[in-house]
Amino acid sequence: MPAYPHLFQPLDLGFVKLPNRIMMGSMHTGLEELPDGIERLAAFYAERAAGGAALIVTGGFSPDDAGNLSGHAAEMASTSDRDRHKPIPRAVHEAGGRVCLQILHAGRYGKHPRIVAPSAIRSPINPNSPRELTAAEIETTIDAFARSAVLAREAGYDGVEIMGSEGYLITQFLALRTNQRQDDWGGSFENRMRFGIEVVRRTRAASGKDFILIYRLSALELVEGGQTTEEILTMARAIEAAGADIMNTGIGWHEARIPTIAQAVPRGGFAWVTRRLREAVKLPLVASNRINAPEIGEEIIARGDADMVSLARSMLADAEFANKAKAGDRAGINICIACNQACLDHIFSGQFASCLVNPRAGRETQLAYLPAARKKKVAVVGGGPAGLSCAAIAAERGHAVTLFEQAGELGGQFNLAKRIPGKQEFAESVAYYAERMKRAGVTVSLGVKASDAELAAFDEIILATGIDPRRPDIPGIDHPKVAGYVDVLRGKITVGQNVVIIGAGGIGFDLALYLLEKEGHSQTDPQAFATHWGITKDPAASGGLDAKGPAAARPPHRITMLKRSATPFGKTLGLSTGWVHRIELARNGVAMIKGVEYRRIDDAGVHITADGKEACIAADTVILCAGQDAKRDLLAGVEGRGRKAHLIGGAREAGELDAKRAMLEGAQLAASL
Ligand code: NAP
Ligand code: SF4
Repeated sequence: MPAYPHLFQPLDLGFVKLPNRIMMGSMHTGLEELPDGIERLAAFYAERAAGGAALIVTGGFSPDDAGNLSGHAAEMASTSDRDRHKPIPRAVHEAGGRVCLQILHAGRYGKHPRIVAPSAIRSPINPNSPRELTAAEIETTIDAFARSAVLAREAGYDGVEIMGSEGYLITQFLALRTNQRQDDWGGSFENRMRFGIEVVRRTRAASGKDFILIYRLSALELVEGGQTTEEILTMARAIEAAGADIMNTGIGWHEARIPTIAQAVPRGGFAWVTRRLREAVKLPLVASNRINAPEIGEEIIARGDADMVSLARSMLADAEFANKAKAGDRAGINICIACNQACLDHIFSGQFASCLVNPRAGRETQLAYLPAARKKKVAVVGGGPAGLSCAAIAAERGHAVTLFEQAGELGGQFNLAKRIPGKQEFAESVAYYAERMKRAGVTVSLGVKASDAELAAFDEIILATGIDPRRPDIPGIDHPKVAGYVDVLRGKITVGQNVVIIGAGGIGFDLALYLLEKEGHSQTDPQAFATHWGITKDPAASGGLDAKGPAAARPPHRITMLKRSATPFGKTLGLSTGWVHRIELARNGVAMIKGVEYRRIDDAGVHITADGKEACIAADTVILCAGQDAKRDLLAGVEGRGRKAHLIGGAREAGELDAKRAMLEGAQLAASL
């Protein structure tokens, strides 16, 4: 009996039988725009196909120039695009998989000046204003979708996914907030639906019957003026009638101010939205968003919420997710922790997508873990993100690795991060790397500080000793009300009513959230999440938004965050997640003062100068989140013995430290030994 029997049942589409229920969902990788992007994408997708995904959907490619998301190369609009794409389906087929091209017209979301939309209404998340499409251009655009599908078929793809959600062009036609046309394409819902239906109808007619046509339906919009459930179900019926084979679930417009894939979203937290589509259609349904573990996919399919599950980031984290799940090897799966740090945040800042917990993702042609030419004795000091990544990969390459960790447990900063509400997933990464090291034969020495004499016996010495929290030089810093963030997160401090946080980087924000939410709403219950963010299942509600708004905040502490610099608060947070933090803190009335000079800390609180005025911020507890200094206490001893050491992670550079860089440095060093 397989461990996840529902997940590994075949799915028969009539003309093609998929071996299991795991789809690799569409995700823009940023490789699409690179000169060698097609070759890198081919290698990237081929590894996921070999890893057992039944069906892969590529990132979005535009059917014409105006619909291009970035304004650059990601198109399937010409015969030269068709020929350029051929290596992708070829590589996936050689690896035993199937791949569909996603056709995405960005409409008003495009990041270039040539963008178009049903009406000339600018998106709040895009500085560019769209031009209104003429009726003739609407016809040409629909034909461009159909032609794009034909080109995809000629390139060797097994099908296409039409992107009809997330606020892109098709959705822009559907919603009154973006479609204020007076002609046959606007006004009544029947008119607003027509664009998407025509796209599917003409695409099916042009591309033929035995070609997979997935439609990604906007099933919960989470914006004011978004569709009601009744409208969504009407659209679903029409799309089925127009010829789609599979219906995927799209959640939220990109401009929605409710998290849809961040860590705050419970695992499988939107499966109920897919289930609701069952009332309307018979075609196979795909559930999406925060499905990061096989047991979650199994539950969703066993409950009948969906027929397939779509995993995108989870496939970045582990290309072999499906094969491992099939073998029942749950402990061997590198779980996506929904941090967005190396995937979406990279895309939003013009870099290619990789993965914090799997730095090889997106670097398939560049970062190879080949067997070592000469087996060496390797010492890794520090069991945080950098050390874990380095030790596991070095041992897998054949080196004899010993990992020294002074604490009684592996994980380093991950063990603090996992205490933050919504960051519990970090525990998965520690467990996974511990297991991976065990399988690779790493000798782990816990609870003992390595000595330089001991280290001198190794061929390679790697210091991944991390950081020490900075203790700023402020008069009164030794006052009993002052605590470090580590002690607070470890529960060693009773935090008072009035709290001042010194420092407002990633850890300052995390700590504020920890204080506000540690006894707040459940982080794993989809209903608690919905109530917290003001999502309703009321079928008459526009956009799925509760008219009452989000649940009222009841902050257990009065918090003030301080920093010396004058830049806006939250600037250093992740682009795709920082806004969630900022909303939570604003809703809980957290005060933020920038440009401060610290004068002293005493019984009354923290005395500052800000805007040229002196003030005292009352505080029962003052918590230091003032950044980090590199911890290199072993370096001098090692060098004193005439040996060189490699420094990685926080030990190499504490400023701007993040786990993503630490794990990448660990992997790159391990690959080079
Ligand atoms: P950080 O982001 O560098 O922030 C340090 C904060 O301390 C700044 O606000 C800085 O503000 C203040 N500071 C620095 N030196 C100070 C001094 N001598 N006296 C008083 N204040 C001082 O560091 P972090 O918050 O420790 O985070 C470490 C890393 O973890 C970050 O680089 C981040 O990438 C990562 N992280 C990210 C997240 C996230 O994105 N959600 C969460 C946790 C951690 P002023 O200099 O303006 O006073
Ligand atoms: Fe998942 Fe984070 Fe990796 Fe993105 S970077 S795939 S969110 S673990």
